[in-house]
Amino acid sequence: MARKFIVGGNWKMNGSKALIKSLVQETLNGASWDTSKIEVVVSPPAVYLDAVRQAAKPEIGVSAQNIYSERSGAYTGEISVDFLKELGVEWTILGHSERREYFKEADEFVGKKTAFAISNGLKVIACIGEKLHEREADQTTAVCFRQLKAIADALTPQQWASVVIAYEPVWAIGTGKVATPEQAQEVHHAIRGWLAENVSAEVAEATRIQYGGSVNEKNCVELAKKPDIDGFLVGGASLKPEFVKIIVAGE
Ligand code: PGA
Repeated sequence: MARKFIVGGNWKMNGSKALIKSLVQETLNGASWDTSKIEVVVSPPAVYLDAVRQAAKPEIGVSAQNIYSERSGAYTGEISVDFLKELGVEWTILGHSERREYFKEADEFVGKKTAFAISNGLKVIACIGEKLHEREADQTTAVCFRQLKAIADALTPQQWASVVIAYEPVWAIGTGKVATPEQAQEVHHAIRGWLAENVSAEVAEATRIQYGGSVNEKNCVELAKKPDIDGFLVGGASLKPEFVKIIVAGE
């Protein structure tokens, strides 16, 4: 079964009304790609989700960067799945390494929110990945599997249809130090193997695994050729017109 290539643009805490006009309305809406082969999702800050959903052409999916695991109530500053659904936002990123690091999100909390989001009709880009000292200590797959297990433990087999895994080595994020295609492929292959062993062969075959970490217009083509790389989660380069080149790398 062919997995549809999926490219996400994670704006992080960047953006403005002017960027929505130039990047979404002009650049992305004006670009074309083979929608039978490539899925595109943009993830602006929460306050801009409504404007981006309204500005973007329908084939562009829109994603939050985080949600909370309750639908409403006394949770100051948090984002509910219901808000997203009202805006027509179908996706959320969860467990990004910046959330894990700066906001102390634990593996179990990420798993819980992933299950909650899917139970409430959202699709999830769930992020995993090792830090530099963990890679240097040969802990790369141990860390990824631990983070993956916390997600898998929270999900039913059917819910995997709504999950994309983003493998993002923390040492590659925002550093310009991209993983080589071989390094990325090796971990993607291991993640798929873990899914086959611990969830099911069907889920392993069908689940899309994105690579993230310093993806740009220059390195995307070689990365995209690897058999277990099914797309990208792009930070810095998703704020620039070069994002279009990264999208079409999936063709
Ligand atoms: P980067 O970020 O492309 O700027 O390295 C990727 C991410 O954090 O999703």
